[in-house]
Amino acid sequence: REHSAMAFKGGPSIPGIKDIIAVASGKGGVGKSTTAVNLAVALAKACQQNVGLLDADIYGPSIPTMMNIFRKPEVSEDLKMVPLENHGVKCMSIGFLVDKDAPIVWRGPMVMSALEKLTRGVTWGNLDILVIDMPPGTGDAQLSISQRLQLSDAVTVAIIFGSSELKNNLRKICALIISTPQDIALIDAQRGASMFHKVDVPILGLIENMSFFKCPKCGEKSDIFGHGGAKRTADKMNLDYLGEIPLEVQVRSCSDEGSPIVMSSPDSLAAKAYIDIAHKV
Ligand code: ADP
Repeated sequence: REHSAMAFKGGPSIPGIKDIIAVASGKGGVGKSTTAVNLAVALAKACQQNVGLLDADIYGPSIPTMMNIFRKPEVSEDLKMVPLENHGVKCMSIGFLVDKDAPIVWRGPMVMSALEKLTRGVTWGNLDILVIDMPPGTGDAQLSISQRLQLSDAVTVAIIFGSSELKNNLRKICALIISTPQDIALIDAQRGASMFHKVDVPILGLIENMSFFKCPKCGEKSDIFGHGGAKRTADKMNLDYLGEIPLEVQVRSCSDEGSPIVMSSPDSLAAKAYIDIAHKV
């Protein structure tokens, strides 16, 4: 951690970016990328902001599929990558640069330099908000492993953005933590939250994903993974609870098709929930 913090300390900030929102989760598969994408699109469409979306999930980039971008970025005169835009959001992902089916087997230092390129080596232009889809599992376990190895893939972004120099140039930097309602996911979410505390990045709040299921035929609500756990955890940890996203088939199918639900079905319950959260951040 020391190593990576030092490596980035002297680095230039990213000019033109006002706010950074890191979307994180304690474990994988809880809907972090889905939330990052829909939030970015909602901020661009419903809140009329200039939005960038950085896929920091180097080992499992989802942004190319979810945003339907399969081109390679152009390189500008000053040798920076030009972000690729869709649904009103400027995106950058390692997935734009490597073959979709090639496994990424890099070790920490390579991941760190890739992240640095994806962050600072990009002509983001003037952005109101850069949304970062964080790597999964930013919990204490990962942090201590990273410390031991002096590598920090999972926490690199938090460390980069936690460096005071960059922070000083920003209006706001904060994290959003996504969890399903289950105990186990919430324990991980708490670990994720404490990691952000450690690197001094404020947490904007907790979001409960897959919060409930409303049957499209009969309208009955079922709490498939339980309900309200994130709210209780937020209360316990003194964090803001920003809202809940229902489990909806369309959330998944729209993501798979590369047209986020906020874009393709803005009147759905889930899209309204994302838009509501976008207004709160
Ligand atoms: P993570 O980034 O946390 O690994 P993803 O965003 O990739 O998770 O989501 C995991 C899977 O769950 C994806 O197939 C996604 O489409 C689906 N998913 C996420 N949120 C919802 C939801 N609210 N309703 C239905 N499917 C969802």
